[in-house]
Amino acid sequence: MAKITVNENLCKGCELCVKACPRGIIALSPDRINAKGYHPAELTDEAKCTGCCSCAIMCPDTAITVER
Ligand code: SF4
Ligand code: SF4
Repeated sequence: MAKITVNENLCKGCELCVKACPRGIIALSPDRINAKGYHPAELTDEAKCTGCCSCAIMCPDTAITVER
């Protein structure tokens, strides 16, 4: 099963990965704030991740690692 890991302290909450995910399963965390003061992206439904890497390719800060 595929999943992504977000390096929270590299994330700037730009939401490009949120828009890039064809499954719509990435969102900014409503309750966590990273060291830069941003709400970091998180995977909301691991079971639906296909490992397509769209999110990781889109992220300008290379904060996303895809495992599959
Ligand atoms: S690897 Fe693909 S399906 Fe999984 S979270 Fe990223 S964009 Fe979405
Ligand atoms: S694209 Fe990268 S920097 Fe932007 S919200 Fe997603 S993980 Fe964070």
